[in-house]
Amino acid sequence: MKIHTGEDYINSLRGRGLRVFLFGEIVEEPVDHPMIRPSINAVAKTYDLAIKVPELASVISPFTGERVSRFLHVCTNVEDLVLQNKMQRKLGQLTGTCFQRCVGMDAFNSLYSVSFEMDEKYGTTYHQRMKSFLTKMHQYNYVVGGAMTDVKGDRSLPPRLQADQDMFVRVTKRTDKGVYISGAKAHQTGCINSHWMVVMPTMRLGEKDKDFAIIGAIPVDAQGITYIYGRQSCDTRSMEGGSIDAGNAKYGGQEAMVILDNVFIPNEYVFMNGEYDFAAMLVERFTTYHRRSYVCKSGVGDVLIGASAAIVEMNGVPKASHIKDKLVEMTHLNETIYGTGIAASYQGYETKSGAYICDEMLANVCKHHVTKMPYEIGRLAQDLAGGLVATLPSEKDLNHPEIGALLRKYLRGKADVPTEDRMRVLRLIENMTLGRNAVGYLTESMHGAGSPQAQRIQIGRMMQLEYKKRLAKIIAGVETETDKDILIDELSGYFSRVFSL
Ligand code: SF4
Ligand code: FE
Repeated sequence: MKIHTGEDYINSLRGRGLRVFLFGEIVEEPVDHPMIRPSINAVAKTYDLAIKVPELASVISPFTGERVSRFLHVCTNVEDLVLQNKMQRKLGQLTGTCFQRCVGMDAFNSLYSVSFEMDEKYGTTYHQRMKSFLTKMHQYNYVVGGAMTDVKGDRSLPPRLQADQDMFVRVTKRTDKGVYISGAKAHQTGCINSHWMVVMPTMRLGEKDKDFAIIGAIPVDAQGITYIYGRQSCDTRSMEGGSIDAGNAKYGGQEAMVILDNVFIPNEYVFMNGEYDFAAMLVERFTTYHRRSYVCKSGVGDVLIGASAAIVEMNGVPKASHIKDKLVEMTHLNETIYGTGIAASYQGYETKSGAYICDEMLANVCKHHVTKMPYEIGRLAQDLAGGLVATLPSEKDLNHPEIGALLRKYLRGKADVPTEDRMRVLRLIENMTLGRNAVGYLTESMHGAGSPQAQRIQIGRMMQLEYKKRLAKIIAGVETETDKDILIDELSGYFSRVFSL
């Protein structure tokens, strides 16, 4: 049955019998687990947004002619790239957390063009398989996760030289019907909340690492998969009942380790099988899309800025100039993230397959901002919140027949603001800067889509120092300008693409 609403989606996850471990036990039904449910609610919101604002969060499928989630759409123009970012910011604003669907979206956007170019070189049929797979996903309007990050073992060694060959996902057996794969993928966002996942290599591979060059789609309930749920700071608060101490009781992110033990992928769902020379292209295109997808954090930042503005009002000091200045600083940082991300999309261009990809330099700059700016925004939020953000008594104390009244009296800020409201906002700031959603807002901002150094390497590769030195030398009178200097822009390729230079 095709999924339309958030509720349809939640029901579609029931009864799948996934092997999910949490706290040393198998989770009978993830949908009903109080620690897992907030992450499911966040994904459900992507469906509800598509119903409320279809032009933002859905598209007409080129494969089925029906409306499907924008998260399942391959971009065919700049507007598509830009709308992805606008949808991401909106969902960050509505959930205050990671809504988990961008990895899959960015995976098959990159795979769409890479499979085309693989076929062009090798005469394979991966691109057609990819289209058939997408058609199927569109028919059901499924959630598709992307599984890239291998556990990697000894970081100084390539896959084939690892003491344990399972440190990178690899092909263990090939038959004429398909391939079997084993290994593990670490910190997989939203994997348990997905219907399918696309397994991809994590880095550039050489010929001797051919068996690690595998891309395939697997239903998340396929035989041989075990999920081990990742803990988040303060996660058990969601199991204590009540709705204040969780900070954001409704929404949360999800990461889990996925262990693949000889999982079978039939040929129709295999999109790379040994073409090691395309692994780097896939990883680079994926990270180009994904690093500007981190504009999601500007939506989450909007919530934190809002919480900070609300708490200073509840404290009675919204007009103090240093407080206003801090809110301005937070906004400046937040908009810088958004500005670079959406600029990367606006500078998008067409690949051979017809799919559009965003500007690599600006995408990397966006993600690199994200590794720093949310921390500064979080620091300022804690500054504005005051020490109570970390010393607040519990919801149970607030509701205690004897001490509850004392807390309501002594924790009051402005006289006309209920103490409970003030506590709720403080808990939200705690949630986003120290608690469950600090995983998404801070640490995932640091490491998701590649740790800071990965962006610095890319920025370093693209910074064109020779070209810039020449510009300086011409202006300084050391060298003389020629027509070539006027026509060629080596900085981003943007002008060359737009003006066909
Ligand atoms: Fe999407 Fe952001 Fe979550 Fe990544 S961190 S899946 S980009 S919401
Ligand atoms: Fe992420």
